[in-house]
Amino acid sequence: MKPVEKLRAHSAEFEKTVFDVGDGVYTAVGYAASNSSMIIGDDGIIIIDTTESTGAASNIFAEFRKITDKPVRAIIYTHGHRDHISGASVFAKGGEPDIYARANLTIELAEGGDRPYPTNLMIARTKRQFGIGLEFDTERINLGLGPGDRPMEGLGQGFLQPTNWVEGERLDVDICGVPLSLIAAPGETEDHLVVWREKDRILFSGDNYYKSFPNLYAIRGTKYRDFDVWADTLDTLIALDPATVVPGHSKPLTEASSIASVLADYRDAIRHIVAKCAEGMDLGLTPDELVDYVRLPKELADRPFLQEYYGTVEWAVRAYFSGTVGWFDGNPTNLFPLAPNDEARRIADLAGGPESLASTMEKAVNDGEHQWALELADRVALLDGYKDRATKAKKTTLLALAENQVNANARNYYISVAKELG
Ligand SMILES: [Zn+2]
Repeated sequence: MKPVEKLRAHSAEFEKTVFDVGDGVYTAVGYAASNSSMIIGDDGIIIIDTTESTGAASNIFAEFRKITDKPVRAIIYTHGHRDHISGASVFAKGGEPDIYARANLTIELAEGGDRPYPTNLMIARTKRQFGIGLEFDTERINLGLGPGDRPMEGLGQGFLQPTNWVEGERLDVDICGVPLSLIAAPGETEDHLVVWREKDRILFSGDNYYKSFPNLYAIRGTKYRDFDVWADTLDTLIALDPATVVPGHSKPLTEASSIASVLADYRDAIRHIVAKCAEGMDLGLTPDELVDYVRLPKELADRPFLQEYYGTVEWAVRAYFSGTVGWFDGNPTNLFPLAPNDEARRIADLAGGPESLASTMEKAVNDGEHQWALELADRVALLDGYKDRATKAKKTTLLALAENQVNANARNYYISVAKELG
């Protein structure tokens, strides 16, 4: 199957469905980038995660209201990413539910959040990663961890401040007669918690598991996600011995007998990356060399839940390098490299002049040498009078690369930038 067809087939994971997970637990998958879940208690309901928009939250709440009209007594945020906190105002409307989150809740990409990053960069890159503004289906197929079509109304707008903070490692609560444990579970983010209902061993795992190779680095821009901590948390989750896992994205895992091995493989994939990266780095490999050195073992690479729809091994390897030792690759050549336009002029000279470099670039485009074409185009663009030809080559190439991608983030990013080029 071609990569793009494989990505398209992955959309089946996000068909709009409210799963009856059992004993008063329901999970809405496919209505938003993330899942939202409901637990029905004696005299009210508990909502776990609220999606990225008030529009999506309204659609989900309407579905939940077909099941019960009990009031919302509590909302639990598994972490502070936009796609989990932004529909809270919809679920809370008309009541005053308790809102639970870890004490170190860090809001990203939503109103009410801190802005620790260069804001314009984050907005631009987030838009590209999720293909916001692209045509659904022809351009944006899916999000890798969510459906390709979702409401945009109220994106990032419905966050409500938590009222109840989880300060330590674990908070045991009883909400509407439902005993739950909120357990610190740093992984994809430091502020993660998982929700554990011991009585029937249902685990709401947040984003520490979903059906894709984990996003150990997000190309929208993130600080380092500590790989070892994420793997340690998977150990904690395995030790709980869940019979059902309701993830933050993708369908619930309901086959109790396979859950421990799924989570163990997920953990082992992360541990493998760490071990091989450390080994390669000790051999003196730079990030560009390391991405060839580190591969998942075949038995893990073949697992359906480790396909690179959202995260990729290559980006994880680069993130591990920069996250552990920073940007410097160890090669003194790169301590003070030439400025890009200086380098471009010298490469053009070497190629026999700007015209020759531009023709080589266009030949690479025609020959389908996509990455080489891009690398040449970036240099040709810096030569006086060649910007238009470079732009045309880059645009054609990005669109061709998008069709060769199983990774939704890469596809969306390629097409978004191609369109920005005009
Ligand atoms: Zn998420």
